[in-house]
Amino acid sequence: MSGDLLGWLGALDGEELLHALLRVFPGNTAVMSSFGAESAVLLDLVARVKPDLPILSIDTGRLFPETVAYRDMLLARLGLTGLRLLRPDPAEAAARDGDGELWFRDPDACCALRKVAPLKTGAAGFTVLIDGRKRFHGNERATISTVQWARGVIEASPLATWDAERIEAAFVARDLPRHPLVAKGIRSIGCQPCTSPVGEGDAVRAGRWSGRGKTECGIHTTKWTST
Ligand code: SF4
Repeated sequence: MSGDLLGWLGALDGEELLHALLRVFPGNTAVMSSFGAESAVLLDLVARVKPDLPILSIDTGRLFPETVAYRDMLLARLGLTGLRLLRPDPAEAAARDGDGELWFRDPDACCALRKVAPLKTGAAGFTVLIDGRKRFHGNERATISTVQWARGVIEASPLATWDAERIEAAFVARDLPRHPLVAKGIRSIGCQPCTSPVGEGDAVRAGRWSGRGKTECGIHTTKWTST
């Protein structure tokens, strides 16, 4: 991956970046989505640029029913046709999480089983993985680039530099539907056992693994390929 190409891509964001990525890597680009609180903004851009783009989404078996319903509604509303649902291996899940409480005993192991492993399988063969991370979400995300060559793929975060106001403006301008849990104070939505509401002044992701000393599930820190 040449520095010139990365530099050119890295100067773009939002819809422009999506267009550029799909011009350069038309057949091996995918977007990852959890269908969480702000997912509609990135997916709306995808719908405008390439509605059949593969969408990698993990059904961990621990999702809120509201997320599943929102996912199906949003796909239909935006006309997106590329959903690829990724699930944990049933035998592995039974062997390592037979009582369904691995999330409590060892959340890192649970995320490795239910998120990282399925996504690693689903992401195989893609050169570009697009995600919805934003710097204003803080912690490890505070310094992310819009584009980087990392862990065997090109990681692209077209909304990395967008702030909360710009995200909200996109919801309003495009009349995008809201995830129903946002109205209940949940501003970052993951699996049901590991997600809680936050206060008005709290960090966006403060309700993820609250009190467990964990801030990321591992899908953004795992090496994707052996190249
Ligand atoms: S977020 Fe919680 S329930 Fe979901 S995979 Fe990670 S530890 Fe398990």
